[in-house]
Amino acid sequence: MSETSPKLRAELDGVPTYKPGRPAAADGPVAYKLSSNENPYPPLPGVMERVIAAAQGFNRYPDMACTGLMNELADRFGVPVTHLATGTGSVGVAQQLLQSTSGPGDEVVYAWRSFEAYPIITRISGATPVQVPLTPGEVHDLDAMADAVTDRTRLIFVCNPNNPTGTVVRRAELERFLDRVPSDVLVVLDEAYREFIRDPRVPDGVEIYRERPNVAVLRTFSKAYGLAGLRVGFAIAHEPVAAALRKTAVPFGVSQLAQDAAVASLRAEDELLGRVGALVGERARVYEGLVKQGWTVPETQANFVWLRLGERTADFAAVCERAGVVVRPFAGEGVRITIGETEANDLLLHTAEAFLKEI
Ligand code: PMP
Repeated sequence: MSETSPKLRAELDGVPTYKPGRPAAADGPVAYKLSSNENPYPPLPGVMERVIAAAQGFNRYPDMACTGLMNELADRFGVPVTHLATGTGSVGVAQQLLQSTSGPGDEVVYAWRSFEAYPIITRISGATPVQVPLTPGEVHDLDAMADAVTDRTRLIFVCNPNNPTGTVVRRAELERFLDRVPSDVLVVLDEAYREFIRDPRVPDGVEIYRERPNVAVLRTFSKAYGLAGLRVGFAIAHEPVAAALRKTAVPFGVSQLAQDAAVASLRAEDELLGRVGALVGERARVYEGLVKQGWTVPETQANFVWLRLGERTADFAAVCERAGVVVRPFAGEGVRITIGETEANDLLLHTAEAFLKEI
């Protein structure tokens, strides 16, 4: 009998595995992880208490419908529960969006470079990625994205602010773009970093969704709310999109720990958003520090900055790591650096300055 391996879907050939930000080395003198856009603050004590209480019951499945969280979100955003869907992080919900809309022969449009999960989940769905380059200023080229729409397009991601550049699209250009997109194409506004935005010209996706049935908004508890390790995100979308997202969710995917922590975090929002405010202050300090040193840094509205280092990307990442900060290199393109605790940001600024002097 000849040995053959199990047949796998051809779509998976060449699909890269998601590359997480490297953790900080455990054995170095100091090590700060600025590679995954996480929240550097530890969990709030009240949230921790809720998680510990929920852990008492983990012999049971969680509430599959996420009832408590859905009700809380409906109140918080002023939307019907039927317009909500949860998932294992917003990347889980993004995958549900693809499963709900796209398959072989369909096209999915997004900017590039943008969130690295987009090409992966698109190709896993069997659909064809259509990547539209960012403008020279590292911003979504919404005109080119609208031009890229064909009768095969099923879904468009607009990442606002964009990961990894931190750049934003503003209200007028987004509205103009949405006016051009056919109403049977779903536009997903990925607002994973929404709470870090301070530019009033950037629209709140939830307001846009209210007016447009083909717009869905993706949000997460991983960033501003500090629950990255618990894996919970959600979408706000009209019917029948939201219903399709609930259908395509992994059953019981969002743990009870995550659900209860998310509810507790929404109730502790003032405190959490206060922390976001402090990070936004640090962001300004890092941005201005880098610019003063002579770096070209796109204006960022997220909890990270982007340095387009090109061929020097790997060098810079290695120098940072030796200095005790782990950043996120995108080979040959640039480095994304998360805004972290003050000492980590100081160390980064110091290292960036020394790097510029050496070359
Ligand atoms: N969207 C964007 C733009 C992101 O940067 C991330 C996290 N890197 C996510 C979605 C997914 O985050 P999570 O699954 O933790 O909600």
